[in-house]
Amino acid sequence: MPSLSELVFDNRFARLGDAFSTQVMPEPIADPRLVIASPSAMALLDLDPSETDSPVFAQLFAGHKLWSSAEPRAMVYSGHQFGQYNPRLGDGRGLLLGEVVNRRGEYWDLHLKGAGETPYSRMGDGRAVLRSSIREFLASEYLHALGIPTSRALCVTGSSTPVWRERQETAAMLLRLAPSHVRFGHFEYFYYTQQHERLRELGEHVLACHFPACRDQAQAYAAFFRQVVERNAELIAYWQAYGFCHGVMNSDNMSILGITFDFGPYAFLDDFDAQHICNHSDDSGRYRFSNQVPIAHWNLGALAQALTPLVPVETLRETLGLFLPLYQAHYLDLMRRRLGLTQADEGDEALVERLLQLMQGSAIDYSRFFRRLGETTADNAVRALREDFVDLAGFDAWAAEYCARVSAEGGSQAERQTRMHAVNPKYLLRNYLAQEAISAAEQGDYGPVRELHAVLSRPFDEQPGFERYAQRPPEWGKHLEISCSS
Ligand code: AMP
Ligand code: MG
Repeated sequence: MPSLSELVFDNRFARLGDAFSTQVMPEPIADPRLVIASPSAMALLDLDPSETDSPVFAQLFAGHKLWSSAEPRAMVYSGHQFGQYNPRLGDGRGLLLGEVVNRRGEYWDLHLKGAGETPYSRMGDGRAVLRSSIREFLASEYLHALGIPTSRALCVTGSSTPVWRERQETAAMLLRLAPSHVRFGHFEYFYYTQQHERLRELGEHVLACHFPACRDQAQAYAAFFRQVVERNAELIAYWQAYGFCHGVMNSDNMSILGITFDFGPYAFLDDFDAQHICNHSDDSGRYRFSNQVPIAHWNLGALAQALTPLVPVETLRETLGLFLPLYQAHYLDLMRRRLGLTQADEGDEALVERLLQLMQGSAIDYSRFFRRLGETTADNAVRALREDFVDLAGFDAWAAEYCARVSAEGGSQAERQTRMHAVNPKYLLRNYLAQEAISAAEQGDYGPVRELHAVLSRPFDEQPGFERYAQRPPEWGKHLEISCSS
């Protein structure tokens, strides 16, 4: 295994030059301490988990030390925020340290979030607080454990550096990993500033580094856009099937790789509520749960606009038209799996829709419902779940149809349970669990956040002794207000 100090860098994005990013050194945070690290994210860089024992680990990820071959850069991008075009965003509080090549030849961007001011900081202080860094860490690693495409989090380092938000907090840094940090907003920036040669350079970089299969096609950029549409259709299907609300689906927070990216005030649904708005600052509900599908489509339209110098408009329009049917097919596939069904049926869409309506009307805990549905035979499970529903006649009608589907498919209950438990997590990252762990960490006790992360890294497995993490949330825990301020 290479040691931490021996990582191999090959900084392809930095070589695009100053039109694409600006060299900036990280500003260290005081008294760095390791809050939490992810062994499985470390493995992506071939790092042994014991590396965290070295004091150098926290120093590197708190901006005190730097690899000699790293080249920290703040990337420039723009984007549509809450529907309005903002001509200049960029890495205001994060730096791309460089690209590490692992033993399998995979490239991983090392992005240090909270690394201090950059030319793109605008009015901000360039910092990230401990609270939001822990939240991003937990969500990245949990989504990964669920099998949902996402950026990864290597570690969070805390500090004694004070930071002002609604109250005084302390600064932290999060080391984020992703194969690429290129967002829809990168393309928008070069399109709207009419730097179409740069737009093409960015396109070439992205094709060469991340979409090599598209590069060989006759219409390489059209093929690239189609990939972005396909990947995002699949991603959003996962979010909807697993009750994940992103909270700030601005086009600068959308990855061209179709991975969950730039976590803010996200939430996993507790009680099913299609209208749930997880971002306290989202007054109009633009990014409410049920709007994530049309918003993703809208954002892809914003990217398509930026690609008009590279791809014929008609092709872009046709490709955009694929999003909804692709999304719907993925979504139904995931929901069938969550329901333990193995065969497609023309009634599936209605079966799923009807269930969600019943859940909505009865404040049913979304995640627990599916886990409990697989715990025993379909007949017994619906009998046990029935009492939570308000519309009993409605639920009975749904349950009869569902049980008929299950028995028509045949198979044993043991198989059904194994299949369902492999896709329906027992443990959910709930806002209140994250909040409890954050409160402890703010007092210097990192035990709870480490335990929560460990449990959530195996969300489908029974973990005796950790039932607390599988319970319904207390009433106060369902109504925590999370804002954009982080
Ligand atoms: P976000 O809401 O984290 O996606 O950030 C939107 C934009 O604001 C990005 O350009 C960020 O880099 C910038 N930004 C957010 N918070 C800060 C901060 N504390 N200091 C500087 N820039 C920030
Ligand atoms: Mg962002």
